[in-house]
Amino acid sequence: MDNFIYPHQFHYIKLHAKTMVSARSNSTDTNVIQAVKEMAIERIKQLLPNLTKEQEDTLMKIDQVKDKEEMEQFLQQLKQHVIPFPTISDKQIQKAFPKVKKLQTPDFEQMDRKETVYLRWFDKGSAKTYMLLLKDNKLTGIQGYLENSQHKGICTICNGLGEVALFTSEKKGQMRGTYSKKGNYICKDPVTCNQNITDIQPLHTFVEHLKA
Ligand SMILES: [Zn+2]
Repeated sequence: MDNFIYPHQFHYIKLHAKTMVSARSNSTDTNVIQAVKEMAIERIKQLLPNLTKEQEDTLMKIDQVKDKEEMEQFLQQLKQHVIPFPTISDKQIQKAFPKVKKLQTPDFEQMDRKETVYLRWFDKGSAKTYMLLLKDNKLTGIQGYLENSQHKGICTICNGLGEVALFTSEKKGQMRGTYSKKGNYICKDPVTCNQNITDIQPLHTFVEHLKA
C-alpha cells in the first residue's frame, strides 16, 4: 500500500483522535461520546475521500480507539503511511534562492519529515530565516527576518496560539531602488508550527501574500 496521508492530514487525524479520547474521559454520557466519535470519523472521511479499501480499513481503525494508549498505537501505525517531506538537495535549495551565496541548509537528520509540512531554518551568514514548501509539486522559497523577541499570539501559518514573532519579508518595488515590506506573526519555533498545521491553506495564503 502506498503512503497516502500528507503530514498536515496526519495532524488533523491526530487532533480528532485526541478529541475522541478526551470526550471519553470527560463525559459519562454514551450519546455524547458516540456523537463526538461519529463527527470525528465523518470529518476524517471528508478529508480523505478517495481511498482504496485497504487504506480506508487502516484509517478506520480509529473506530476502536478508546484511551490514550490505544490512540498512540493507532497513530504510530498510521504514521507508517504518511508521505514524508522530501529531502531537498543543496542544488535545489540554491535554485530556490538564486541570489543567496553560501546558504546554510536545513538539517534533515534532525527532522521528522513525516511531521514536516514546510521547511524553515535560520542562516547565520545572512541572519535571515528561510522557508521552503511544495506547492503544486514545485518548490517555493521565502526569505525574511524573524525578530528575536516573542510574545503570545496567533500564528498566521498554523493558526495556533503560542509564542509568535514578527516575520518581515522585503520585495523589490516597481520603481528602481524601492522596496515594500510585509510582516506577519508566526510561531517562533518551526517544529511546533509544523505540528500545529492541520490545514495547508493558511500557509499557502501566507506565501501568496508575501509573493504578491
Ligand atoms: Zn505556527
